[in-house]
Amino acid sequence: MIVTIDGPAASGKSTTAKLVAKKLGISYLDTGGMYRCITFSFMKNNISYKEISLAKRHLKKLNMSICEKNETQHFYINGADVTNEIRSNEVSKNVSKISSLDFVRDKMVETQRKYAKEKSIIVEGRDIGTVVFPKADFKFFLFADEKVRAKRRQKDLIRNSENQSLEELIDEIRLRDKLDSERENSPLMKAKDAIVIDTSVMTIDEQVDFIIDAIRSNMKGKKNE
Ligand code: C5P
Repeated sequence: MIVTIDGPAASGKSTTAKLVAKKLGISYLDTGGMYRCITFSFMKNNISYKEISLAKRHLKKLNMSICEKNETQHFYINGADVTNEIRSNEVSKNVSKISSLDFVRDKMVETQRKYAKEKSIIVEGRDIGTVVFPKADFKFFLFADEKVRAKRRQKDLIRNSENQSLEELIDEIRLRDKLDSERENSPLMKAKDAIVIDTSVMTIDEQVDFIIDAIRSNMKGKKNE
């Protein structure tokens, strides 16, 4: 079974996906974390998204791995755990440019499909229900009011010992959504058959229960057909 969750920045996808996966006893994959890893590595090596051949060579050599530790998805680049570093605001500011590159997307989509092979999994991102798994069993699209999303992002940053004003975060989220929605290759878009959830006034538990109920009632319906 493949479940997809797409949606704009800080709409609650990761936390929801992780908890739904835990409750259903299936795997989950945070594809934003993958694009963040590539971005972090490019930044560390002073590679601009404009230096195409250099970026291509670097990506070929880059060894990214993902593993579950203490119920959290950990990301590694060439063996080093970069799970916290990839959540920095600097990475957030640069990730949309890197994720719009065709050769980056090709490699990520291939890796995502391999990762999900032969297992039940919930995958979250921007193009999961539209491009990566267009035939997924269940598709959801999460969104929330900009201010609510900026507040959530601010909380995450504080946890990572970073501080940023709400106004700046609203501007950054707005820009990131614009770049992600307007890019040519696999833009952020709701799949036609996705269930839309406005999480502005929902708690995480309510989001999780909503998704699990939708999956279970649909499965029951299928059994009775
Ligand atoms: O979900 P998260 O905010 O961590 O995603 C970071 C960035 O990765 C997004 O802003 C987007 O540019 C990129 N991304 C993407 N396709 C996905 C997941 C994330 O382009 N499936």
